[in-house]
Amino acid sequence: MSAELASSTLALRTGVAPLPPELYRQAVEEADLAVSITDRHANILYANAAFTRVTGYTLDQVLGQNESILSHQTTPREVYQEMWQRLAGGQSWTGRLLNRRQDGSVYLAEVSITPVHAADGSVTHYLGMHRDVTTLRQLECMVNNQKQLIASVLDVAPMVFALLDSNGYVMLDNQAYQAMASDLRNDNPAHLLMDTLCPDWRHALVTEPSRCVFTELEARLDRPVGGPRWYTCTAQLIRLSNEATDSFFCAQNAVGLLLTCSDITALRAEQERARTAALKAILADEERVAAIRESLSAALFRLEEPMNVIFSAVNLLRRRDPASASMLEDALDASRVHLDALREVIPPRGPETMSNINLNEILRDVLDIVTPSLLANGVVVDWLPAPTLPMIYGRPVQLRVLFKALLDNAIEAMSSKGWRRRELALQTRQHDDCIIITVADRGPGMTPDCELRAFEPFFTTKRSGGRHLGTGLSRAYQVVTDHGGFIDLAENPGGGCLVTVEFRLDGDPL
Ligand code: FAD
Repeated sequence: MSAELASSTLALRTGVAPLPPELYRQAVEEADLAVSITDRHANILYANAAFTRVTGYTLDQVLGQNESILSHQTTPREVYQEMWQRLAGGQSWTGRLLNRRQDGSVYLAEVSITPVHAADGSVTHYLGMHRDVTTLRQLECMVNNQKQLIASVLDVAPMVFALLDSNGYVMLDNQAYQAMASDLRNDNPAHLLMDTLCPDWRHALVTEPSRCVFTELEARLDRPVGGPRWYTCTAQLIRLSNEATDSFFCAQNAVGLLLTCSDITALRAEQERARTAALKAILADEERVAAIRESLSAALFRLEEPMNVIFSAVNLLRRRDPASASMLEDALDASRVHLDALREVIPPRGPETMSNINLNEILRDVLDIVTPSLLANGVVVDWLPAPTLPMIYGRPVQLRVLFKALLDNAIEAMSSKGWRRRELALQTRQHDDCIIITVADRGPGMTPDCELRAFEPFFTTKRSGGRHLGTGLSRAYQVVTDHGGFIDLAENPGGGCLVTVEFRLDGDPL
């Protein structure tokens, strides 16, 4: 059906007056798109004014010429073949061709060719429309180059970058992010980090994006294989152009969340090593000072005994031989002065600040400290911490000294030559309003007499040239009672020694 006929049929149906045929011609003539009509061989029969403006050819110069006059001859053959294949099949074709203007200059044309059919369906003509998209293509290239540049810069950066849209979809990332995903065996590590650092982020990103912003927060992510990874992360908002079509006229900016993270696992491990070393030094110092304090106390205690005997002897002598008694008295006084001087040099217990303490962390520290000794003696540790443990109020160094003494004893008990069962179970749990810690070894255990006397000061079963003062357990006992707790020694049901320490949550430390 011709356009004229179609227009009059529609006019009859709708009651709108049909358009005059000349209007069609005039509209095409004045269109701002280069329009041409060709025969079936692409010979130009008509071209509008815009065609002349775009190509530089006047109407006289192109009428009767093939459209190939526009070809720059660098468009690949396959493009034309594909174009002609579609046109031969009666279908329209749209694509980009490299054209040459009349003055020889090159431009990129976005061409759309539509076959015009006769009443019998055969193609009689082609309608070609094209526009110069050189500038558009330059802009596209600039955007692409910029994108490539940004991607390359992001890829060489050692930091992890991920840009999330308001739905949480990762729009842009870098190689470090992809390496992180494969390391954590998780396709979406950005979500994992956000879940850890800002649990409500999905909702907040839509309703109140500023709540998702943070600076240099540390996150720990556990890997299925290998130790945990530590990251320091920053999240900031970025204004993005809204791509939704319906926002074209109401240009409401969308928000993106840029997440940047640095892997600080190595730094963390180093800090942890340094912390453990510092703790080790503190505990060693504490133990050394305690040993000096207790040795001097023991010496004083033992010196007092003969002096008391001498004092009784002086009392007896005073009537029978006052001169000798007076001499002895002088000697006794002099000795007392020396003993007092000795008492003066006993290092006092340093004051320790009380704080809220998680006993799992204290035990973890102590395990770190005794790890070399556990490894050297081939002791296998079964560490069973309660998943969550309430805090207790106490002295952290003293508590570390306590548990180190218990672990040292257990390791030593199992380290005798030829002893095969070297297993240590360390457990924490909460029972009612108490925290219970058990240290169970598979060593030879204690005799009932030892169990009774183990907490006495200076009690030891070891004879190794004074190395064992026998103050470890008495000191442990002291720490436990100072924290209002309870300590018990018993036989481990499977063999060995079982130490149970209990602290009340409402305990009142001295
Ligand atoms: P050609 O020898 O013309 O042909 C190249 C390939 O196309 C050959 O493989 C040939 O088999 C096939 N072919 C050519 N003519 C026909 C045909 N009539 N039927 C089936 N297959 C055929 N080209 C441009 O470069 N720029 C344009 O802006 C442009 N606009 C066009 C607008 C219209 C309406 C039409 C119909 C075609 C247009 N062409 C345009 C295509 C143009 O006619 C040429 O086919 C093309 O320029 C390649 O020219 P050529 O001399 O290199 O090769």
